[in-house]
Amino acid sequence: MVWLRREDQEDRELRSLSPFGTPSRSAGGRRIPETEDPLRTVFQRDRDRVLHCSAFRRLQHKTQVMAAFEGDHFRSRMTHSLEVSQMARSVARALRLNEDLAEAIALAHDLGHPPFGHVGEDALHEAMQDFGGFRHNAQGTRIVDRLERRYGHGHGLNLTRALRRSLLKGRVPDGFPLSDDLRDGEEPLPLEADLVDLCDKIAYLSHDLDDGLRAAMFTDAEAADLRLFRAARKAADSDQRQRVVSEFTSLLIHDLVEQADLALAAPPTTGQRPRLRHGKEMTVLAQEALEFLRTRFYRSDRVLAVMNDGAERIRRLFASLRKDPTPLPPAFHERAETDGIERSICDYIAGMTDRFLHRATVGLMAD
Ligand code: MG
Repeated sequence: MVWLRREDQEDRELRSLSPFGTPSRSAGGRRIPETEDPLRTVFQRDRDRVLHCSAFRRLQHKTQVMAAFEGDHFRSRMTHSLEVSQMARSVARALRLNEDLAEAIALAHDLGHPPFGHVGEDALHEAMQDFGGFRHNAQGTRIVDRLERRYGHGHGLNLTRALRRSLLKGRVPDGFPLSDDLRDGEEPLPLEADLVDLCDKIAYLSHDLDDGLRAAMFTDAEAADLRLFRAARKAADSDQRQRVVSEFTSLLIHDLVEQADLALAAPPTTGQRPRLRHGKEMTVLAQEALEFLRTRFYRSDRVLAVMNDGAERIRRLFASLRKDPTPLPPAFHERAETDGIERSICDYIAGMTDRFLHRATVGLMAD
């Protein structure tokens, strides 16, 4: 037989992955047991389910800062997720971690974001104060565990435990309705989850710098206040913006791989899980870039005005649907019976794209 069966790929993983990688055979199972696929490993299957789900398609019209700008070349959450996924695969391959798992986590990592980014997240959290709160990472697991209705069994996309736990990384509000099996479990998170987290940061630092320049929020000369930008310009041996941004990304990625390699190669201290992170110097340079983007971009008047308008739309729509839930689609009414009407309204609004929220609130913003 010439073709590479799933079992062959699994065997190959066991031979090629670092001891810190997560083999498909250690994925921790699915909530509803399924027959294995003849071609794909469980993580490849997870990745495909994420790519084909409707929450993923909606990322195309969700933005964070770029909601404030008109233009076809700015990033959306979808292009961001694709960029993170590509970086995560390269880094995972270099470190001999599981590329397929890293890719699946990366494609799914922003699924739970509501319209208008973190400002929208805060507005929903406030509205849900007495009902378990809201946070995008917890919502991500809710989407893949419950809200996606592809298979009709009420367990969402029925992804592997390793992937679902990786999505939960970070804080979860008290009382948020997580799936029961995600509440417990002492086993450490796959290292691939840390890797995606770091690639997420590298991706947004790089593309927000690029988009910020493109939107003329700051000039190349101003960006050159950043040591990392200057280092990138030197490495590119050019002032051409795309080449500089590309070097900016490369410097961060290469530092991550080198530092992670040192961490993974160090003799393991008993029971200690290696920690992936940037080196000391790069951590400082990346922080400097983040601060610059915060003041010059994320918290600029132009961006904040659009974000605050979005948050107000979320508040008004939430209040209006609570008063009269008739406009909720049938599936949300059904779920309200078990999850509560507030949670269902929250799910509905969180799933909206920026433009859908706009259309849905035209009448509400008139007064
Ligand atoms: Mg992200």
